[in-house]
Amino acid sequence: MILSPTPPKAPRSLLTRSISVRAYRSLSFPISTADRRLDWLMHEFRLIVNKSIRVALTTGVQSRSRLARAAYADLSRDHAIYKQYIPSAFEVALGVLKAHRRRLRKGKRSSIPYMRRLMLKAENQSYRLDRETGRLRIPIRGTEGLQVQLPLSKWHRSILSDLSWGLGSLTVVPGQVIVVVRKETPKAYEPEAAIALDTNEDSLDGVMAAGDSARPVALPFGGVRQVQMIHFRRRRRLARKKAHDRRVQRILLDREGRRERNRVRQRLHWVSKWLVRAAKDRRAAIVLEDLTLHGAGGRSRRMNRRLSSWPRREIHRQIEYKAALEGVPIIKVNPALTSKTCPACGARRRDRVGKEFVCLMCDWEMDRQINAGLNILKTALASNEALARAVRFQPGALRDDVVSPLYDPLREGAGAREEPSGVELGVR
Ligand SMILES: [Zn+2]
Repeated sequence: MILSPTPPKAPRSLLTRSISVRAYRSLSFPISTADRRLDWLMHEFRLIVNKSIRVALTTGVQSRSRLARAAYADLSRDHAIYKQYIPSAFEVALGVLKAHRRRLRKGKRSSIPYMRRLMLKAENQSYRLDRETGRLRIPIRGTEGLQVQLPLSKWHRSILSDLSWGLGSLTVVPGQVIVVVRKETPKAYEPEAAIALDTNEDSLDGVMAAGDSARPVALPFGGVRQVQMIHFRRRRRLARKKAHDRRVQRILLDREGRRERNRVRQRLHWVSKWLVRAAKDRRAAIVLEDLTLHGAGGRSRRMNRRLSSWPRREIHRQIEYKAALEGVPIIKVNPALTSKTCPACGARRRDRVGKEFVCLMCDWEMDRQINAGLNILKTALASNEALARAVRFQPGALRDDVVSPLYDPLREGAGAREEPSGVELGVR
């Protein structure tokens, strides 16, 4: 989704318990309306945004209230439009300018900003949505408005009928309406157990621990790697076949990319849902690597690969928002050296670690991925007192255990559509 309004990014500290978190979700609806007035509204809105950008640039203002003082009277006089759209346009304009300034700061080229895309944005007090029927009223001016019928899917209905989701802003672009809904998330519980997981290409692996007991666990993604491989081959074939027509090639490759992402995302939804449920049942905290932290002294090849891997980031994003909605605490730890350290004696290996981690200092041996999960748990226990009260770490107890799957993609019926759009978290 390109145009979903961006709530403030959740800082790392969101994962400590005291902060109240708001979850956002974008509901998107395809629309086809012959009403020319909607077109007119979007053109007017874009014009107001672009005029506001110019005013802000020439006067140097960066806040909404100052921009209103500088531009509202003129815009209100020149545009016979529902007045509440003007402050919404200010917000969009300031957002465009902010991105422009950020590009300049980073030394990138940025021409004078201008919004090309047709759009209309309204705050929740401006529009009316019947949450049962999907009838949407968009004001034009004064008491004049237009009606749009939103096609509600079963999933849309499940969200809209849940009144704990409040309505946020509305965005209209050609052919599409996007409604943002938001919800306060419950306070996370005090953990009585931990599920610590290392994030790999096709699975999450690690350990489930409570009190003195622990067992190695694995959560396979259900063939995400195969999906990626199939699409990789398909893309290569397409690129060869359409090499003579770059435009068609681009379109087809983009479509392939979208299909791949959707297929992967669906599989990951099953995994994240299952993990959060398992954690909640055991009142466990979920411990993951912080993929935004880079190890000191430059990134390793492994870290670089991880940061660039979309499924890893996507599975973390899903786990985090689902956990927030369920009140499951998430703890993120610095992933540096998790794959190279011996959890039993703390010795580090400097060389490449194979499929098995073998310690050179003591006689510790463990599957590399499970081993990384153990180190992740160990790091979390060292920094989180509440968790350390609930879980005592004894790597020795794990030695001979067999890895048990935390989730079986075949049994859970992976592949069925779960949730069509994402959620973002913000902190108040
Ligand atoms: Zn060792």
